[in-house]
Amino acid sequence: MKKVAWRFVSVLLVLVVSFGFATSLVSVKVAPRTPLRAWLVNNFDVAGTFTDHLEILVKDSDLDILKKAGISYKTIVDDVESRLSARMVRGYRTYEEMVAALKKLAKDHPEITKLEVIGKSAEGREIYAIKISDNPNVDEDEPSALIMGLHHAREWIAAEVPMRFAEYLVNNYGKDKKVTELVNGREIWVVPIVNPDGYVYSMTKYTMWRKTRRHIKDNYYGVDPNRNYGYQWGSVGTSDWPGSDTYHGPHAFSEPETQAIRDFAKREHFWCSVSFHSYGELNLYPYGYAYKAYAPDNDLLKELAEGMAKFNGHKPEKSSDLYPAMGDSDDWLYHDCHTLSFTLELGRRFIPDQSQIDEISQKNIKALLWLVDVIKEKYQHIANTTEPEEHDNPNAGNYWPWRHYVKKADFVREF
Ligand SMILES: [Zn+2]
Repeated sequence: MKKVAWRFVSVLLVLVVSFGFATSLVSVKVAPRTPLRAWLVNNFDVAGTFTDHLEILVKDSDLDILKKAGISYKTIVDDVESRLSARMVRGYRTYEEMVAALKKLAKDHPEITKLEVIGKSAEGREIYAIKISDNPNVDEDEPSALIMGLHHAREWIAAEVPMRFAEYLVNNYGKDKKVTELVNGREIWVVPIVNPDGYVYSMTKYTMWRKTRRHIKDNYYGVDPNRNYGYQWGSVGTSDWPGSDTYHGPHAFSEPETQAIRDFAKREHFWCSVSFHSYGELNLYPYGYAYKAYAPDNDLLKELAEGMAKFNGHKPEKSSDLYPAMGDSDDWLYHDCHTLSFTLELGRRFIPDQSQIDEISQKNIKALLWLVDVIKEKYQHIANTTEPEEHDNPNAGNYWPWRHYVKKADFVREF
């Protein structure tokens, strides 16, 4: 079939996948680097990625697509939305509560904190960054770290953990020897909520919302902020259709939220960064946009991801090994700022039960303390370029195999 026809099929498929009512979370057994994995990633809302399976959110009206393609799946949660609202998830602070907590932290500890608004969301909410360091109003020549949370609206635990890290540092300063040493010897910045509009929307309107909330056109809202960064912004693991959950925006850095992080990172020149997401229990490192694109610092990044894994028990992995995705924060931070950047996928659900929040927070706070500590020595060993030696052709590595799969599945005729 001609290229154009395939594209038409894929658009139809996305349309079908995106309308419907109740949504189920299902598990599909699928090996890494297979056409089926690429096809699922490109056409469904992927919730969790594992070596041997993917967990995807599927509108119930679209389960037929899987069945017709001969793909067997196991339902993990049926009607995710009503289950979540039914148990009225507790233990997570709202945007307003987070802001109040940040303000209190800064007010009560002015000797080691500085609170700054680094930008505003599309709906005008402030994006806060809190600096934790001695002499917080002076830009000292110390190793620096950027700890970010909540690019994706529904990943509530990804706001709570960085916030608790900030609180842990402040509350243990002068009491715990290691914490005191790090606050004195590092510049640590925490941005607990990169996507405040999405967070508020997820908490009040539709729990499973992923993107930002800027009005794009017609009834389409939001951009996937973790596909909107400016290095290798493109077409793999992301979509150019505004209705998609992984819509990459009209152009790189089109969104006020990613612009805020871009300008902030360019100003601060971070030595290392961690961006929290959920879920999957993974410590991911760049590059994420293509299988064969290895960072010149690949060994160092791997070593640090493995080092953090000793504390949080996550699986360390090159980001593209899950599935390649273009335009994420790690690739840009590494390539354009030479920041040793990591994405930590927390827990086993977007919004883990309240009973799990403490444990997830504690082990990841330990991982962060370790990273921020060793970065001083490890950063001396960085490469003199961030340019990968080899790229694979993203289209060759991604689009064609899934087309092939669709053909094999023989349900193209359905559309
Ligand atoms: Zn995420």
